[in-house]
Amino acid sequence: MTSPRTSSQRRQAPLLLINIAQLLTLRSESEKPGPHRRSELKELGIIHDAAVLCVGGKIVSVGTTKEALRDPWLMKNRKKVTEIDCAGKVVLPGFVDSHTHPVFVGPRLVDFEKRIEGAAYEEIAEAGGGIRSSLEAVRKATKADLSSKVLAALHDMAALGTTTVEAKSGYGLTLQSELKSLEAIREAGNRWPGTVISTLLGAHVVPKEFEGRSHNYVEIVCKEMIPQAARRKLAQFVDVFCDKGAFNPGETEKIFEAAVKYGLSVRAHMGQLSETALWPLLRFHPGSFDHMDHVNDADVAKLAECDTVATLVPGANYFLGLKEYPNARRLIDAGVAVALATDYNPGTSPTISMPMAMSLACTHMKVTPAEAITAATINGACALRVADRKGSIEPGKDADLAVFDARDYREIAYWFGANHCAMTILNGVVASHD
Ligand SMILES: [Zn+2]
Repeated sequence: MTSPRTSSQRRQAPLLLINIAQLLTLRSESEKPGPHRRSELKELGIIHDAAVLCVGGKIVSVGTTKEALRDPWLMKNRKKVTEIDCAGKVVLPGFVDSHTHPVFVGPRLVDFEKRIEGAAYEEIAEAGGGIRSSLEAVRKATKADLSSKVLAALHDMAALGTTTVEAKSGYGLTLQSELKSLEAIREAGNRWPGTVISTLLGAHVVPKEFEGRSHNYVEIVCKEMIPQAARRKLAQFVDVFCDKGAFNPGETEKIFEAAVKYGLSVRAHMGQLSETALWPLLRFHPGSFDHMDHVNDADVAKLAECDTVATLVPGANYFLGLKEYPNARRLIDAGVAVALATDYNPGTSPTISMPMAMSLACTHMKVTPAEAITAATINGACALRVADRKGSIEPGKDADLAVFDARDYREIAYWFGANHCAMTILNGVVASHD
């Protein structure tokens, strides 16, 4: 995949997107902050023949083309403004990919092929595949190598309309290699015009050298990784893979306690392989619980009452060839805030495409195209606690926009496997992909 060219124009020059066939603002009808739920997921706040003015990397006005052309500031400053004709196009908030694992060296092709041939997880590991192969490569890699891999992924994501990315460490699993991974994320983020939120996933799996003594490894996560990542401001979130074969609920609580102690927010991989009670973890106010293939009714009811988002990642189910997908309808209908993300990673979801995640949600999870867009934008922003500046097109928010070569927003999830994103604007910086 080619990287988008960032335009040579001055960073954050005033931009006017005009003649937009469908502008999806995602502004909340109720004007209450927080994630969109139930029927709100279908409200996209569409304006036809619309215009958006961005100045200094922020959205300053949103309305019809007619209204924009009568704007006194614009009439005076028209020559200073770069005009982008969006006739016949859909414009929506840049996607917020709220769950990715981009710090790895290479694809896991052995796993891919062996799994197709019917091999079990253990056989894959014996053949040199599995998470261990990613660990060895990341431990050996230089920070510069890792950062260039992350940056390449960020550019590819932008080419598909993504402007905000949550990026996790988690393929190092030593103090030094987890910090190196977080530094690589920071370096890549500094060289990309979009926004990166970083997450320490030191608790991804128990590394082999700690087999049978996971409590020792949890100590390292709590007493070394978390304090150092916090002190050096390398992560906003701490994540735990809480499931069979990874970390148990008690260990997860311990890690969350350490995160909160050091001022970091928390999130967790929950219910991918097995059901775990969620309610004991809600006291830590997690930004999100991710995967959620297995969850009980009592927890669904509790989640509906709080702002913790359920982030669904159907790319993983697709790539593993599973017949079952997370029950999005059950969650949405109960009032749980639902987001969609790619789960970009080399083992189970090697995709950077939010439109693909949305398409899978529509075809396999009975999520409507409108609901998928809300889940991929404003609700993803809520999962990352950046909804005050991301996820909708409203004055005062960051100028993060995706322009699709489509007349109807439903086409974004419809044309699966093809990229119809014509342009992405990241904090006011234009990246065009034609
Ligand atoms: Zn994940």
